Amino acid sequence: MYDPLVHAYPNQSQPDPNSFWLAHSGEQPSDDGVLTGDRDVDVAIIGGGYTGLSAALSLARDHGVRATVLEARSSAWGCSGRNGSFVRISGGRVPWSTFVKTYGEHEARAFFNELRQGLDTVRDLIERGSIECERQSDGVYKVAAYKTHVEALQREERLYNNILRYPAKFVSSQDLQGIHRGPESHGALYLPDGFSVNPLLLARGLHQMAREAGAIIHTGSPVTGWRTEGNSHVLVTPQGTVRAKNVIVATNGYTSSQLHCRLAGRVLPVHSQIIVTEPMSEAQVAESLPSDKCFFDTRNLLFYYRRLPDNRIMFGGRSAITGQDAEAPRHQDYLYQALQRKFPSLNGVGVGYWWGGWVAVTRNSLPYCYQVPGLTNVFTSGGCAGSGVSLSIHLGTKLALMAAGKPFITDASILKRQPDRYPLSSLIRLGQWMAYRWLHVKDARDAKKAA
Ligand SMILES: Cc1cc2nc3c(=O)[nH]c(=O)nc-3n(C[C@H](O)[C@H](O)[C@H](O)COP(=O)(O)OP(=O)(O)OC[C@H]3O[C@@H](n4cnc5c(N)ncnc54)[C@H](O)[C@@H]3O)c2cc1C
Repeated sequence: MYDPLVHAYPNQSQPDPNSFWLAHSGEQPSDDGVLTGDRDVDVAIIGGGYTGLSAALSLARDHGVRATVLEARSSAWGCSGRNGSFVRISGGRVPWSTFVKTYGEHEARAFFNELRQGLDTVRDLIERGSIECERQSDGVYKVAAYKTHVEALQREERLYNNILRYPAKFVSSQDLQGIHRGPESHGALYLPDGFSVNPLLLARGLHQMAREAGAIIHTGSPVTGWRTEGNSHVLVTPQGTVRAKNVIVATNGYTSSQLHCRLAGRVLPVHSQIIVTEPMSEAQVAESLPSDKCFFDTRNLLFYYRRLPDNRIMFGGRSAITGQDAEAPRHQDYLYQALQRKFPSLNGVGVGYWWGGWVAVTRNSLPYCYQVPGLTNVFTSGGCAGSGVSLSIHLGTKLALMAAGKPFITDASILKRQPDRYPLSSLIRLGQWMAYRWLHVKDARDAKKAA
């Protein structure tokens, strides 16, 4: 499987994911095919996921620039067509209590407000584009996996209310009964904003809007080489080249360390995986997830899940460390066992789909959106880890702004920092393995304490 730390780009021999979304989203929308020959363009965008497509739409619609998107495979072939479908106020993976301690209350509020705007950007996009992406109603629950986690959720409620000024609400285990069942229903933090969609249909809607506005989208066109000539960037693909004044890098967790030395080592590609079960019986629905909201739990190595409209459960969590190991059946089994522990009524339910994708994690676990130092007119964003649906789309509009020569003004200064490089890139996977072991031990300890 494509591994950004090993391969130069996602080539045509990589399989498409065995994803529920791909099987239930109809035909690919039309595009501009493979790039052939040589072109001069104002803005080239590398990567055709939410970030790249959103930047392309915004450039065409808001700034009058017809950008050219170069996507290695098909539109939304990366995370944007593979994710867990939660569109919420999120970005990165720093707990709010840690964020406040590290960066202060003012920065926390500014960052939170930018994330809120991210959700508004997607709501507005779906509405303006009349995108049919099976949007569900709002409501997100962070569920205490153990009784001992309840107090921390209650503290988090106060932090949301008093510092972030957001009406999160603690829900007791009793009140959770008609919403979330099973032995891990100890109470939850309810976040009123956030909903689920079919993420691939959302991306395809964005793709269509971008093309209708004038963007050009070349699929099957990986950037295999990049050289600078004067103030221009020459992006090489197998059958053509693009000479661009501005480049937006929107490859995120799929960024190969070989794409450009200035970008290498700044994100760690982390594999995340999902299973989707066969449809449940009415009795199983009543005993697992009677509600169709979005859920994730309080583990360090957390699980995220929801009931799909046809009564399947989508269940996701951490996965393999390397691409080479990602298809080993034990990873699917890890999710399946966790699902059964959470909802014993699902004993024996079949698994219909299993797939994964590369999310981008930075050293400070926070997202970024900046002009790349040392390169003329190159802009990039990403680093949202497993929670970037809304923020990727939002930051795509900010990349468009910068590529159009305008400043990205935000009080969330943390967003505009270039992420530090990971040290000792050869040992990066070993470090990740050790981090997983440590988090696993912490979760096991919590389980023991709560037993
Ligand atoms: C299993 C999983 C579950 C997730 N669940 C959620 C969730 O529920 N909610 C949430 O908010 N977020 C979730 N995420 C994260 C979210 O999907 C991402 O943050 C978001 O999709 C990133 O979009 P993007 O456009 O920046 O990157 P991507 O969608 O990954 O797009 C990058 C694109 O770059 C292309 N590319 C790479 N190299 C080249 C090259 N050399 N030339 C041309 N093209 C290239 C790739 O083919 C790819 O299509 C999840 C991710 C995964 C994998």
